[in-house]
Amino acid sequence: MTNLFGLDRAQLRAAFAAMGEKPYRADQVMQWIYRRGQDGFDGMSNLSKDLRARLARHFEIRTPELVTEQVSTDGTRKWVLRLDGGNAIETVYIPEEGRATLCISSQVGCAMDCSFCSTAQQGFNRNLTTAEIIAQVWFAARTLGGDFHGQHWKDRDQPEDERGGRVISNIVFMGMGEPLANYSAVLPAIRILLDDFGFGLSKRRVTVSTSGLVPYMDRLREDVDTALAVSLHAPDDALRDEIVPINRKYPIAELLDACRRYTAGKDRKTHIVYEYVMLDGINDRPEHARKLAKLLAGMPAKVNLIPFNPFPQTRYRRSSPEAIQAFAKILRDKHILTTTRKTRGDDIDAACGQLVGKVMSRQKNRLGTRIGDVPVTTA
Ligand code: SAH
Repeated sequence: MTNLFGLDRAQLRAAFAAMGEKPYRADQVMQWIYRRGQDGFDGMSNLSKDLRARLARHFEIRTPELVTEQVSTDGTRKWVLRLDGGNAIETVYIPEEGRATLCISSQVGCAMDCSFCSTAQQGFNRNLTTAEIIAQVWFAARTLGGDFHGQHWKDRDQPEDERGGRVISNIVFMGMGEPLANYSAVLPAIRILLDDFGFGLSKRRVTVSTSGLVPYMDRLREDVDTALAVSLHAPDDALRDEIVPINRKYPIAELLDACRRYTAGKDRKTHIVYEYVMLDGINDRPEHARKLAKLLAGMPAKVNLIPFNPFPQTRYRRSSPEAIQAFAKILRDKHILTTTRKTRGDDIDAACGQLVGKVMSRQKNRLGTRIGDVPVTTA
């Protein structure tokens, strides 16, 4: 049985063609699922009874099972969703003034082995399928009362600060996993997020966050061109090699070249967000800020400082508010747009780098030891 959450429009049309059905029937089915929240074929009233029965024999619409839901005092919600084989992933909903962001996972665990991230400590089990990625979004919308009717999923071109009644206005691939290491599943998922018959989000409201898999940054630009966030975290290779081991394969100069290619020829408002986790005494000194400003000078860049979120057995501490402020000031004085990420949902361990899910039979091939061997799935 094929789970329909796993097929983008082109794939679904092809599947319908193979069944001898007209392609527009596929479009209708997508609308039922994503715009009207149907998870069964019975309610698809513009399809013949016969077609509905045939669909039910070939396809299913299946969401992961909810293990726990936690709601933070700040309104952030974290869902743990069970997958097959005893694995579980986490999905986080972050409502804010004027927007609401869903943070989704792309892998069970992660192989990138960043030293300050608790998902990394879990090791890597497997890639999520497109269906498992999309099901997180569908599940969240449905749970939040996104009835999929009318304006919840419409009015796509609202001004920046107006969510226009949507329960989810933005999607970020910042949950468990490295999305560009699971490119073949992430790409169709993005297509469904952007599709008018899917979730109908605009490109700038879907953000892929990467630790810096350079070749796939180029692919992403060619294929779907969403917003991009880059986990930089250090202003020189010596330090970045230590805390973001993929740097040993794609050092900062190559990474920033890829970033330049990503924004080349785009309008002046387009920039890349550089994420920078603030680790006390490690990467948070004034000289780090000055180096970072030099690196990013003249680039369409925004820096997002993320106060480190602790987890059990970590050797790191969060930088002091004073250190974070001083760091931000140095960047701003050099005319680099800088924001500090508000820590959300830390009372339910839903903050950045705290997502652990449940990773079964983890492979120990973390990058720290086997740098040449990133498990990447190509499209
Ligand atoms: N693999 C993707 C998505 C990771 S999560 C990536 O590397 O970009 C999103 C952000 O949270 C990344 O910038 C990541 O480096 C950061 N992060 C990880 N652990 C953290 C922690 N303990 N505290 C704060 N931020 C963390």
